[in-house]
Amino acid sequence: MMETAVEVGRRNLCSYCGSCVSICQTSALGFKNDTPCLVDAERCNYCGLCTKVCPSINELEKPSVLKCYAAYSKNEEIRFNSSSGGFITQFLIDLLENGTIDGAIVCDYKDDVFAPQAILAKSREDIIKASASKYCPVPMNLIFKDLKEGSYAFVGLPCHIKSLRLYQNIDNKIKHSIIIAIGLFCNHTPKFQATDYVLYILGIRKKDVKKIRYRGDGWPGSMQVMLNNDHVVKITNVWDTGFGKYFIPDACLNCKDVFSDYADISVGDPWLQEYYSDKLGTSFVITRKTSAIHLIEGCGRLSINEVSYSKVFDSQKTLYEIKTQRKNYRKRRLFSRLGKHKVLWSFLYQKSRFERFMKRHTKDL
Ligand SMILES: Cc1cc2nc3c(=O)[nH]c(=O)nc-3n(C[C@H](O)[C@H](O)[C@H](O)COP(=O)(O)OP(=O)(O)OC[C@H]3O[C@@H](n4cnc5c(N)ncnc54)[C@H](O)[C@@H]3O)c2cc1C
Ligand code: SF4
Ligand code: SF4
Ligand code: SF4
Repeated sequence: MMETAVEVGRRNLCSYCGSCVSICQTSALGFKNDTPCLVDAERCNYCGLCTKVCPSINELEKPSVLKCYAAYSKNEEIRFNSSSGGFITQFLIDLLENGTIDGAIVCDYKDDVFAPQAILAKSREDIIKASASKYCPVPMNLIFKDLKEGSYAFVGLPCHIKSLRLYQNIDNKIKHSIIIAIGLFCNHTPKFQATDYVLYILGIRKKDVKKIRYRGDGWPGSMQVMLNNDHVVKITNVWDTGFGKYFIPDACLNCKDVFSDYADISVGDPWLQEYYSDKLGTSFVITRKTSAIHLIEGCGRLSINEVSYSKVFDSQKTLYEIKTQRKNYRKRRLFSRLGKHKVLWSFLYQKSRFERFMKRHTKDL
């Protein structure tokens, strides 16, 4: 039995969800880089709360899947600027404007251009500003500590959502205030170094960057780096550069939750041939709560079509196998270790160019 969440970090199991630091009543716990540490060991009374909310070392019963949909926002601007079909952004705006929620906990940049964080969005503009995926670690659940009572929606990755559920078993304020949990599908979150690597291969200095968007710009979209001189650099194939391969955190190598199994609503990309010509985008949506179905079906600003769960599952089949099959673990870990060494980056870049060349010229690599 682990005494504190520090041990989770020591065993490389921490996904940087933020819950342990948030729930610690004595402020003994903090983060060093993206790993929990005892900032003041004398304050720790070994209450064990920090380990009880950790998604990496606790199990929970999974709710059943109810209905699934292919959905998108009827507002083309929202649809174009979001990750998939803008389902989440449009749905949150609707919930806010019809009074179901007082605000939405979403992920946006505040103080640091490279480190997004959880924010409580209380306007349509704030929800839109926070749209699209951020492909770097975000301790979303840190926000629980200072959250005032109210009715909120929460958006997060599978580890954020599982940890939210564990938190709700302990903390009544969070149990009653977060009334709807929206989870993203997730293969893994690239480490912060993945972004450094992309800037490196583009020859961009970090100090020249004003803003980063990893998705948006249609579907599947592009990564956009806005410079201080307002020049925008776009990369459409960012995952092929090595970004999605050499920088996988250990916690993600051990994680098997692809569909945000504990969320009321889960949302992902429609990685199926029939959607590849759709350049505006569609979101695949899974529901696990009857009230969520009523809210979705009552949202006139969304286009929704019911689809089968097997279709949604098929859209992630390859990613699911990569993430859950033991045989892939060693290979993924090896690549992830390579990404640690900055001096190897230019070699990796050359290597991924070489791999792309080989892929074009061989059938099965
Ligand atoms: C790290 C990561 C990995 C993913 N892996 C997959 C995958 O393997 N397969 C797949 O189909 N889909 C994956 N997704 C989900 C996909 O990218 C879209 O987010 C999803 O389809 C929702 O699209 P949308 O247009 O409805 O959302 P939008 O309307 O664009 O809204 C997205 C919402 O997610 C929030 N958000 C963005 N990034 C984060 C973050 N890092 N942590 C918490 N909240 C965040 C935003 O604040 C916003 O509220 C991943 C997303 C992330 C962030
Ligand atoms: S006081 Fe409790 S929650 Fe805080 S670090 Fe110690 S064991 Fe964890
Ligand atoms: S996964 Fe979350 S709860 Fe567990 S150690 Fe890391 S930050 Fe803390
Ligand atoms: S793979 Fe698992 S641990 Fe990693 S970010 Fe996704 S949900 Fe969290």
